[in-house]
Amino acid sequence: MSYDAIKADRSLCTGYRKGLAGKCNGQLYRCECGAVGCRQTYDDNCSEQLFNVNWKCNKCGAVAKYEGPLNFVNRIGA
Ligand SMILES: [Zn+2]
Ligand SMILES: [Zn+2]
Repeated sequence: MSYDAIKADRSLCTGYRKGLAGKCNGQLYRCECGAVGCRQTYDDNCSEQLFNVNWKCNKCGAVAKYEGPLNFVNRIGA
């Protein structure tokens, strides 16, 4: 099984990283506002980015109000 196929089983970011021309595959987190996305070191680094390096939500502006990573939660529930 390829690395991509293994990762596709989990809840990973399907956004695209700017400049890298590839899928993000970052871990997903959920904010208390209900938005789900990945976290990136730089702002606007992924098309589905939700959190910045300080865990600030892109949608509602809350800081560190996240659950996740969601794929880890899924693994526990499986
Ligand atoms: Zn992403
Ligand atoms: Zn939020």
